[in-house]
Amino acid sequence: MAKVLISGGAGFIGSHIAESYLASGLEVVVVDNLSTGKRENLPPGVTFYERDVTSKEDMEEIFFREKPDYVNHHAAQINLRRSTEEPLFDARVNILGSISLLELSVKYQVKKFIFASTGGAIYGEVETLPVREDVPALPLSPYGVAKRSVELYLNYYNKVQGLDFVALRYGNVYGPRQDPQGEAGVIAIFISRILRGEPCIIFGDGRKTRDYVYVKDIAQANLLALSASGIYNLGIGNETSVLDLVEILKKVSGKDFLVIFDEERKGEINRIALSSEKARETLRWTPSVSLEEGISYTWKWFKERKQ
Ligand code: NAD
Repeated sequence: MAKVLISGGAGFIGSHIAESYLASGLEVVVVDNLSTGKRENLPPGVTFYERDVTSKEDMEEIFFREKPDYVNHHAAQINLRRSTEEPLFDARVNILGSISLLELSVKYQVKKFIFASTGGAIYGEVETLPVREDVPALPLSPYGVAKRSVELYLNYYNKVQGLDFVALRYGNVYGPRQDPQGEAGVIAIFISRILRGEPCIIFGDGRKTRDYVYVKDIAQANLLALSASGIYNLGIGNETSVLDLVEILKKVSGKDFLVIFDEERKGEINRIALSSEKARETLRWTPSVSLEEGISYTWKWFKERKQ
């Protein structure tokens, strides 16, 4: 049975990937320091190490013991605003943590390294949407710069050290288990506020657009990535504004909740949508869940848990 080491597997996206890998018959080892992840997110059947990816010694112990066939790297500092306030911390986790896993993947002859990159924060402001992978990535945040840097390291480890890789540039991923306490994840944040009877806060005029993609579709792409190589955008291809989200949430929840407008946040791009043509053609990946369906599943999940 092939074995996958998932870093960040106790987090939102990583735990859905762990489930889909287990369901397809893979053995799953998770490394997570539980800084934002939760033990209860871990599906039964995984081997879990509560460790930090920035500790090369700890990681070496795990690689030596587990000898994974594949590495799926999702552990990261995911807060874009924190990356602007503490770029050193961001780089330590997101760049140095990645290099420690890359070094060990070469040493322990890992067959493929799958990396959670970003489509939302890597391109900066682009003219023509939906954006394709061949448009130069000029990120406008340390978080985006770190993700792009790791992609360049992947290219080096591939060309010079022979490590095969896939980098998946996600849109805004949403769905069950997303942390509503975080700074990212507007859908989880709004749902949680609606359930508590609190108003939803929009920073700016609500016209900023993003490409929202359901987490199960992202987990499916990570499964397909096991037999692919290269860089892929993963999104629906449509722009959705925060005001559009409010309308969908009103429909799905049946509640006419209050919306408050606050000052716009600096460093956030205005518009983005990702072209996933390459993923469709090469990975044979198509997002199967529409935004309204996905929001409805997410709403039900949060409602049952009363978060
Ligand atoms: P998350 O916070 O739920 O997951 C990150 C996980 O990494 C958490 O479980 C956390 O405890 C763990 N972690 C953080 N630092 C660690 C460290 N030093 N050592 C070990 N574990 C550590 O967030 P998520 O939304 O599931 O994001 C997962 C990945 O996907 C991240 O790499 C993120 O940058 C990327 N991504 C997410 C989105 C999105 O919309 N959510 C979009 C693009 C890319």
